[in-house]
Amino acid sequence: MTRKEVTRPLKQVIPYKQAMLTLPLLLLFGCATADVETSPEQTETPAPETEAEAPAPVPEEPEPVVTTTSLYAIGDILLHDSVYNAAKSGDGYDFTAAFEPIAPILTEADIAIANQESMIGGSGIGLSSYPAFNSPYEVGDALQDAGVDLVTTANNHTLDRGVTAIENSIAHWNEIGMPYTGSFLSEADKAELRTLTENDISFAFLAYTYGTNGVVPKQPYHVNYIDLEAMTPEIEAAEQAADITVVSLHFGNEYETLPNEAQQTLVQQLSDLGVDLIIGHHPHVLQPVAWVNGAEGNRTFVAYSLGNFLSGQQGDDRNTGGIVGIDVVKTVEDDKETIELANPMFYPTFTRRSSVEGPFEVVPLQTGKPELFEATSQHMSQWMPELEIVQ
Ligand SMILES: [Zn+2]
Repeated sequence: MTRKEVTRPLKQVIPYKQAMLTLPLLLLFGCATADVETSPEQTETPAPETEAEAPAPVPEEPEPVVTTTSLYAIGDILLHDSVYNAAKSGDGYDFTAAFEPIAPILTEADIAIANQESMIGGSGIGLSSYPAFNSPYEVGDALQDAGVDLVTTANNHTLDRGVTAIENSIAHWNEIGMPYTGSFLSEADKAELRTLTENDISFAFLAYTYGTNGVVPKQPYHVNYIDLEAMTPEIEAAEQAADITVVSLHFGNEYETLPNEAQQTLVQQLSDLGVDLIIGHHPHVLQPVAWVNGAEGNRTFVAYSLGNFLSGQQGDDRNTGGIVGIDVVKTVEDDKETIELANPMFYPTFTRRSSVEGPFEVVPLQTGKPELFEATSQHMSQWMPELEIVQ
């Protein structure tokens, strides 16, 4: 999708056209004939000024200002040992190749967000894979280079390697200037709402997980849990602070391709609170997108699960993921501001190894597994026929 900045809005064009239509035809003909015949009477009145003072009164309408910001989101970045071992480079790791094929799409977005499921605690404390993950810092660098603007970090693996992995992760996000939300250093860190503004449209970001595999956090701010009572004031504050509230939810049943009842109930509750965009993940497979109508007449866009974006899981369904996108359109007219969601899109992706022992890479599904493209497109758009499938 393309970034749009409408500097000459529709309303401005219409009165102009009306004015042209209501201009006395004689005047127009008069000008035209004047050029041809060069009648002496006509040459005394310069045509342009006469037209400017045409009698048709056009009321001074305020011109609406329309701006559009696109938001893209990708699913789980969950680094198994196969993925980071294949990305070894000298003394460190390099994940550039993983995102290179889809970076041109991600960078199209005004704002792109990713779910970093495994903590990036760095190799200093020892990398690890399933069931207790710890990933290299370098994957954060590669995500940023590929166009990601914010990461969500509330996942069932957030507490896998304890406080040190969380603190190391956050230190690295801060070092590279990548905003994060969902897991925090302190109460003060958690209290600071993350917002991003592009094209005069502001977005607030929140992230929550259903659980942490039975591990209890040392401090409540280490990870945000799904708990409507605790979430409500945070969502209300986000609604106050920004035009758009984006909530990432790590929820649902693993390997199920449709949302369960609990997912649907929670999504409805958040829609009723006014949440605009809900980005789901955790099932490791794709679940469809949908519109949900909120209690206040509002409309929420939800992607129930974006599947894995980059992982070492095996199987076609677990390697199929994608980039979901939506345009937020803001119209300001007469001090009145309206916000609309438009042009939902999905760009299916596939994770594969570039060769048998080669590094992992995320490629367009049409490139990686074209035979899955049709079924994936139908699956994702089954509740939203207007979803544009891009490839
Ligand atoms: Zn998960």
